[in-house]
Amino acid sequence: MLEAELRANFEQVWEKIEKACFRAGRKVEEIKILGASKKQPPEKIRILYNFGIKIFGENYVQEAEKKQKALSDLPIEWHFIGRLQRNKVKKAIELFHLIESLDRLELALELEKRLAEKQRKISLYIEVNIGYEPTKGGVNPDELIPFVENLLEFKHLEIKGLMALPPYKERAEEVRPYFIRMRKLFEKVKAFMGETFSELSMGTSSDFEIAIEEGANLIRLGTILFGKRE
Ligand SMILES: *Cc1c(COP(=O)(O)O)cnc(C)c1O
Repeated sequence: MLEAELRANFEQVWEKIEKACFRAGRKVEEIKILGASKKQPPEKIRILYNFGIKIFGENYVQEAEKKQKALSDLPIEWHFIGRLQRNKVKKAIELFHLIESLDRLELALELEKRLAEKQRKISLYIEVNIGYEPTKGGVNPDELIPFVENLLEFKHLEIKGLMALPPYKERAEEVRPYFIRMRKLFEKVKAFMGETFSELSMGTSSDFEIAIEEGANLIRLGTILFGKRE
């Protein structure tokens, strides 16, 4: 049965989170789980919501719109975690509470313009391309501080944290140095931005325990919670 299957996944994940927190001397309350629900059906999101996961992340605007309709009775906090195209910005700010993948000035400009028209603000994280991978989005680590400085003039963008998806490694332990670098960048930006800058989103199914040990407070879990994507 679907619910039993998802419950087993959830309990297994929860136990791993508790153990990682214990090793790191952290409290489990510091960790938020985001269900990475791309290519997963609304029924599974609903079940996981009932287990206590309140944040879900989608990668595609159109796919998210359909699912959100089917789940409109639930007060889910929706994050956008994919590559955001400029022509999808208008729709994205209607559908999402937070955008985790701000990765270029062109996108910031479009967001600012659309939000100013509506006289509203949105919370964002800056995506960092921590592995300098040409195929991935994100600001290069050495360009992060100037990028943040540029964003200060955009009055409708509330920059709350950083997000990263490090290179995939067969052995999860090899991802640790990237998480350590992210934590250092996070502290550096925080010293500059102040207390409202508080979120570090990193860690997926294959490496979330290490991400927790290195300071993540939001982990983004797909397959380990939901099972295989459709
Ligand atoms: C799909 C996705 C995840 C989750 O990946 P899993 O390996 O399924 O846990 C996390 N972050 C982003 C940005 C994703 O696109």
